[in-house]
Formats: sequence, C-alpha cells, structure tokens
Amino acid sequence: MKTRAQVLTAFGKPLQMQAFDLPPLGEGEVLVKVLAAGVCGSDLHMASGEDPRTPLPIVLGHEGVGEVVEVRGAKCDVQGRPLRAGQKVLWNRGVVCGRCFYCTRGEAHLCPERFVYGIHRSTAVPPYVGGCYSEYLPLDARTDVIAVDDVPADHLATLVSASCSGATAAHAFDHFEPDRDEAVVVQGAGPLGCFLMAFARDFGVRRIIAISRSPARLDLARRFGATDTLSTLDTTSEERREVVRALTGGRGADAVYEAVGKAAAVREGLGLVRPGGRYVAAGFGQPGGTIDWDPFADLVRADLKYVGVWVSHAEHTLWALDLLKRNLGDFALMITHALPLAEVNEAHDLMRRGQAMKVALLPHA
Ligand code: ZN
Ligand code: ZN
Repeated sequence: MKTRAQVLTAFGKPLQMQAFDLPPLGEGEVLVKVLAAGVCGSDLHMASGEDPRTPLPIVLGHEGVGEVVEVRGAKCDVQGRPLRAGQKVLWNRGVVCGRCFYCTRGEAHLCPERFVYGIHRSTAVPPYVGGCYSEYLPLDARTDVIAVDDVPADHLATLVSASCSGATAAHAFDHFEPDRDEAVVVQGAGPLGCFLMAFARDFGVRRIIAISRSPARLDLARRFGATDTLSTLDTTSEERREVVRALTGGRGADAVYEAVGKAAAVREGLGLVRPGGRYVAAGFGQPGGTIDWDPFADLVRADLKYVGVWVSHAEHTLWALDLLKRNLGDFALMITHALPLAEVNEAHDLMRRGQAMKVALLPHA
C-alpha cells in the first residue's frame, strides 16, 4: 500500500510531501483512509522545535477521522463490535499498554508506554507513517477506535478535535465537576477554551467568563456558552480582576480554567479564583515559562485546589464526542478553514498568524 504524507524534516522548515510504501498490516492493525486531519496548536510548536520530544523526520498530526480500508484479524471498536471496511471512525490519539499500574486504575493517560500519533514516532520506524497528515494511516492494534457512522458525512471533519482539545477539556471536568450555580472563568478561547466553555454550559454552569486576546475568538466563545467576555487587548490584568469580582459577588470565580499554556496566564488566573475555589491548568502541551508563587497567599491562605490536566484517555474522547454530536453546528464554526493536504504549510501559516482557529486538512478532497 502506498501513501503520500507531509513530513517535518527540519525544525522551522516547510513540511514536504513524501511517498511511502506501508508494510503489510500486523494482527489487529487497521488501515484507515484519512478523511480529515486537524491542525493543532501543538503541531506548530513541534514544527518550530519548541517541543523537545519531537523525533525527526516525522509525519505530524494527532487529530484524525477516517474510513476503515482494511482490518487484519479480529479488531473491535471501543464498544466491542468488530470493525469492518467502509466504517467511518475516529481513534484515540494516545496508544497505551493496557497492563501497567496506570492503565489498570483508570489513569491510562499516564501510561509510561503511551505514544501519540503524529508526536512520538519518526518515519525511521515501521510503519513509517505515524501521523494523520497522510492519505492513509495504519493504526496500532492497541488503538481505541470509535465508530462514527451516525455522524452526517459533511460533519466528519467537525469531529477532528474530539481526541485532542475535546478530550483534554473532558479530563479537566473529570477531576471536578462544576455545580450549576457556579461562576467560572475560562482563560483562552481557542479550541481547548471553547470545549471547556461548552462542557461548562453542558453542566448548567450559570456564569461563564471568557478571557482572550482575540475579539473574533470572544465572539465565537459566546456560541460555546460564554456569558461575559473580556479582551486582554483593551483591559489590564487589574481591570479584569475587578470585572470578575464584580460579576461574582466580590469573591472571585468558583473555578478558573486555563487554556493558554503561558505562565503569565496562571499568575493572573490565580488572582481570579475565590477563596476555597479551584484553579485548573489544562493548556500546557509544552513548557510555558515560570511564575513567582507564594505558598501562603496563593495556596494555603486562599484554601485553593490546584488541578493539573495532562492529556486524556479514551473515555475522555468519548465524552467529547458525545458533546460534539449534540452541538455539531457550534463546533463546525471552530473549523474555520479546510485545505487539501498539499497546502499544509499554508495551513500552519494561517494558524501561526491567528487567522485560523483550526484548519482541517482533507487528504482526499
Ligand atoms: Zn492537539
Ligand atoms: Zn500502561
């Protein structure tokens, strides 16, 4: 089987289309025709060399949706139903061992053997193509595959974020579920921030305050449930704190969700939580700086709960998919551009310049 895929060969250089011969499938492996691949903010960090884990050369792309072309042997979807050619599927971005301490206690995202499509495996290692920026992608036998035949064909690309930002947002609420009468702040209104807002709305959270630099993203945030928006372009950190206080009975938010990935946002966000509240950091995919932190004032005296959210596991992807399916119209707006695979470098440029919220690459368009 042959495929063409976009390869990152050097940091800071354009990706190159290359042809690959895929080896025959092993037992339990699944070959998918990639119908849409999401371009994630992490892909840009990897392409520029900011993620120290990135092996070169590599086919990027950890967000994908596709059609089953071939199944070798017995392989079932996460519901236990045998997979067959022609099915539309989504797959969990992370593949885990299923046997270790973490995998057997519901924390599979912490599996030491976890690898992620488009992040960990270079083209030097069979099956050579390990990312979704490809026409075809072989899935490891341990992959959690989810059938999505019930989603209308024109909305399949809408699903690409389910196993990345969607699942990470689900994980943030897996730690602590909000109450209906709470007021929360979401820092950042990119895909992760919008998923966090959509989940908060789904939990019935009464007040959702979105903070972002981009006025366009704040407009979109309202579609995902933001009741109040604050742009960092026309307010100071101090002013935002005053507004959040004013909207929360002078106390601060019950929970603040971080979806920015920068240390400065954490410094500001800690000041927006009420005493006894929660600070939930979900936006760091790679190091994002450090802050001055006073254990007395910032943790103990404020009686805060700090929650770090590292990636996600298959159950979170299912939560996100459920949310997506019930809000397809809103989430379709998150995909601001759809481009052929050949235009991957234009896609990265659009996202780097902040002109695209998310680009879906369509390898067979
Ligand atoms: Zn991602
Ligand atoms: Zn494991």
